[in-house]
Amino acid sequence: MSSASGCRDYHPLVLAVEQPPVAPTPIVCIDPGHGQRPARGTEPIGPGSPIRKAKDGGGTAGEAAVVLQISRKVRAVLLGRGLRVALTRTAANFTYGEGGNADRARFCNRRRAALMVRVHADGSTDSGRHGISTIYPAWHRDWTDDVYRPSLNAARRIRRAVVAATGAADRGLVRRSDLTGFNWANVPVVLVENGFMTNPAERRRLTSSAYQWRLARGLADGAEAFLGG
Ligand SMILES: [Zn+2]
Repeated sequence: MSSASGCRDYHPLVLAVEQPPVAPTPIVCIDPGHGQRPARGTEPIGPGSPIRKAKDGGGTAGEAAVVLQISRKVRAVLLGRGLRVALTRTAANFTYGEGGNADRARFCNRRRAALMVRVHADGSTDSGRHGISTIYPAWHRDWTDDVYRPSLNAARRIRRAVVAATGAADRGLVRRSDLTGFNWANVPVVLVENGFMTNPAERRRLTSSAYQWRLARGLADGAEAFLGG
């Protein structure tokens, strides 16, 4: 109220009612990659893009089941710390919308997540390759310009925390411009490749409950550090 007449309407009770609400507890959107039956067909890699990619590349052998187990543990840790959590899938398959990576981003966008963490595991023809890669979106006007900076910040925090929690080899931060699940996201987003399913020793760790809990604590620590500013 800026007019003089508005001042005459001043009433302390109204002011009391209009106090700003307490900030809601942030939601972390956890996205276990892939599924037992990957979605078929292609989709644009970003809004309005002529470039199309498979809705789901399928992942490396055994990845879909392992990343769901890790993601459930991340949820448990974050809920235990008083945060809110949304999982894009809690069963073998992701079924929201058309089931592609664009819809994984839309799922988290709709929930106005404070952070989207995509949980993956890696594969390689080189069975010696191992360790954790932390991936964040490249800057792209109208796609990721709004989330680029916080995503990079979150990636730095998560990388540090996951490597510290696991002692795994650190394969560093990786910037990607071609990931559909990044380019459709309107919330800060990070993808963690939690290790190589194709490395026998790392595969054993990735499929063990104890190591999954370490990964989960690391991912939760990083997410929490990001949310804390
Ligand atoms: Zn994957």
